[in-house]
Order: sequence, then structure tokens, then C-alpha cells
Amino acid sequence: MIDRIRIEPGKRPKLAERDPGDTLGLESKEQAKEHLAELVARLERLQRRLFAEARRGVLLVLQGLDASGKDGVIRAVFEGVNPQGCHVTSFKAPTSTELAHDYLWRVHAACPARGEIGIFNRSHYEDVVAVRVLELAPKEIWSRRPAQIREFERLLSDEGTTLVKVFLHVSKEEQAERFRERIANPEKRWKFRKADLDVHARYDGYLAAYEDVIADTSTEWAPWHVVPADRNWVKATAVATLLVHILERLDPQFPPAEAGIESLRFE
Ligand code: AMP
Ligand code: MG
Repeated sequence: MIDRIRIEPGKRPKLAERDPGDTLGLESKEQAKEHLAELVARLERLQRRLFAEARRGVLLVLQGLDASGKDGVIRAVFEGVNPQGCHVTSFKAPTSTELAHDYLWRVHAACPARGEIGIFNRSHYEDVVAVRVLELAPKEIWSRRPAQIREFERLLSDEGTTLVKVFLHVSKEEQAERFRERIANPEKRWKFRKADLDVHARYDGYLAAYEDVIADTSTEWAPWHVVPADRNWVKATAVATLLVHILERLDPQFPPAEAGIESLRFE
């Protein structure tokens, strides 16, 4: 499954040729849910070791258009994980304080400590994609950012953070369907903003911006993964598979106990 979603460094993701409805070989929703439950249990055990080891961090970067399901993935994948070792940061349009600094300032401050799993719901990639599509800064500014981001992520990686970058690839039709549902459902209406109409109208522009930035920033130390996002059970299972794979490769260990404590007795 991972081979199908990984974007090799230097390659273009070819988003227009990828089917957002792909099931990645999963047979059914029921099968995927069973598999997901097992992955979530493995993730919980791995995270316990990562936290105890306290030497390395993991950073999940989740990007995707509005209604691609970023919030749902976070909920489904991390429900079993100890909140003490996890930290979710949702990046919104920058505040005036954030705008008074360089664009990576708020991002670096939110990166996971050793032993933690950091989850970015949106990220520094908004500073390329949203800024480009909404024309918030001139091209000279956003076009130099992918090179800066590659080096920033290399720094994180060199210093002990493993990056897991995921683009949730939703189709224009499914995005419209989810927006309609948000408007119709009183419990989801709060999520809809009138500006989402504009996001939908600019779907092709967003996709073109992601196509470029993913090609420019998929590196050996921080590769991208494009996850088909029209089916909720596919994306949650794919992201959990990826995280479990990466944590198993890191193979965190419980630290050794102090010498001689086995023989200690409490009266
Ligand atoms: P939501 O995730 O639905 O709460 O929306 C957050 C909004 O903030 C989205 O429209 C993002 O595009 C926007 N956003 C996040 N980061 C940035 C950024 N660095 N520059 C401009 N807009 C941003
Ligand atoms: Mg939104």
C-alpha cells in the first residue's frame, strides 16, 4: 500500500491521473475498519515506547483541501493514543504576531519534542499553496519557499524528527457533496464558511499548486504521500498504515532500568 501512495523524490505526483476514489486494495469498509482497529492498537504500543525512549520525534503533516477529511483522520487514527505524548496543531491564517515573523517561526515552535508525535492539521505548506492561490504575496516570495522548506525539513530530520507528509486527495465532486452535507446538517454547519465556495471554485488552482509543491518538496528525508480521500475508511487506514510502518522502522526502545532495582523490596 505504501508504494502506491509514496511520491519518490524528484517525481511529480500527477494528481490529475490519480483516482481520489481508489481503495488501495482494501476490499470493503468492514475489512478496512477491522484492519484500522488493529493498526490503532499497534500505534498505541509503539507510541508508548517512543515516549519512554524520549530520543526521537515524529511529525505527521496533514494537508488537503477543505473537506478532504483532515479532522476525521486525526480522530480515527489517534483515538487510542496517550494524549500526553501527542500534540495536534491546527494552522489558521496567520495572526498579526505571526505575520511579524518569518513564516516558519510558528511552525518550528510547534514541532514535536523528543518522544512526541506532532500532528499538523495544515502546515507551512499553506504558506506556499494558500499564499499562491489566494495571491497573498507575490510570486518571488512563495516560489522560493519550497527550497527553504526542503532545508528546514532536513534540519528537523537531522536533529531526530521523522516527517510523515500526507496530502489527502479529494475529488471536486466529493468536496461539493461534503460541503452540501455541512450546510444541511445542523451539527456540521459551523464548519462551513462562505469562503469555502471560493475554495471550491478554485479547486483546479489548488490542485495545480499542490502538484508543484509536492514535486518540489518530496525528498529522501521527508517524502510525500498522496492518499485518496473520497472514502473515509481508505484514508484513515492508509495514514495509520504509514505511521505504524514508520514507527516500526524507528523501533523505539524502553530505556534500561537503573542497575540493581530488580532486587529492591518494599516493606
Ligand atoms: P480550517 O482548517 O477550515 O479551520 O481553515 C483554516 C484556514 O486558514 C484555511 O482557509 C487555510 O487556507 C488558512 N491558512 C492556514 N495557514 C495559512 C497561511 N499560512 N496563509 C494563509 N492562509 C492560511
Ligand atoms: Mg474549513
